[in-house]
Amino acid sequence: MMHILLISVALVSKVPHEEDVVIMGSGPAGMTAAIYAARSGLSTLVIEGDETGGQITLSYKVDNFPGFPDGISGEELGMNMRKQALKFGAKIQSAKVESVDMTKQPFVLKLEGGKEITSKAVIIASGASTKWLELPSEAALIGKGVNSCALCDAPFFVGKEVVVIGGGDSALEDALYLANYATKVTIINRKENLRASPYLQNQVYANKKIEFVWNATIEEIKDPINEKVTGVTLLDTITKQLKFFPCDGVFIAIGHSPNTQLFKGKLELDETGYVITKPHTTETTIDGVFAAGDVADPKYRQAITAAGSGSMAAIDAYNFIQKQKGRK
Ligand code: NDP
Repeated sequence: MMHILLISVALVSKVPHEEDVVIMGSGPAGMTAAIYAARSGLSTLVIEGDETGGQITLSYKVDNFPGFPDGISGEELGMNMRKQALKFGAKIQSAKVESVDMTKQPFVLKLEGGKEITSKAVIIASGASTKWLELPSEAALIGKGVNSCALCDAPFFVGKEVVVIGGGDSALEDALYLANYATKVTIINRKENLRASPYLQNQVYANKKIEFVWNATIEEIKDPINEKVTGVTLLDTITKQLKFFPCDGVFIAIGHSPNTQLFKGKLELDETGYVITKPHTTETTIDGVFAAGDVADPKYRQAITAAGSGSMAAIDAYNFIQKQKGRK
């Protein structure tokens, strides 16, 4: 009888569902934050968007995450983190957050479909998405020779020839790193000058393994039918001629975009859209809102650094909530 009464009170009341912490994002930052937050006794909800598990799940094998001496697939690593978060009582919901009202506490997150969730603290761990070329052949070969993380996947190209697409710092850093493994690295740049810093340019020009194709864009990556990379079809942007360029791997390094569209005008972002956090913390410009992982990190972008900052965000959120309680 008591149960029925409680349920009906909950149904008729318009009070939205309330959590201690809502974590936006389910990559290494979000899941580590969930493990720490739930384990410390906070009611914790992870909202995962389209990229379940984050970018790490795109990595065929992760062999630089401490604790896995034989490596682990990105997908399995993501699944393990998820299991661990669930074990400590975190809840995970697939949903698209349409808006976040951070003007007053508790914060209100509105989900697609109209559901509202309130939370004492919010951890933004929505990551940064790789910019892709948006070719059908590219989509078909991601993880099968088409990659976006040289640091993660370069060791799989020992003795092979790869191309790197882009002309910024990311592309040149990737090329330098790949040159430690591949026999030949060709940077394909759509212009005849690079956007990258002179420092990196000098290093690349001095590396005998690295070559360039200038004024070229990728029309197609071969060979989706055989599920492996055999080369790229290039369009010379000046002569308009097509040419096949053989290679074993393609690294896309045309930039990343932080997933911060929801926070524009609400939180302080840097000029490229990354969330700005106070030094040595995960605190943003709004009390009770924290940011962890790639969404606040244009520099390191590693699973382990994301996980580390996820744990920091959960600790910061816990301390924030305790402080709020102490004030009441
Ligand atoms: P950038 O935006 O600086 O460079 C992107 C590159 O990709 C440009 O050369 C651009 O060409 C090219 N590009 C973009 N779209 C396409 C496309 N569709 N097809 C082909 N080429 C394309 O991105 P980065 O990731 O390199 O750098 C982002 C920021 O992070 C920068 O501020 C950079 O300095 C910083 N960074 C710093 C590092 C460091 O300090 N160690 C390491 C890595 C990044 P175009 O020039 O023609 O537009």
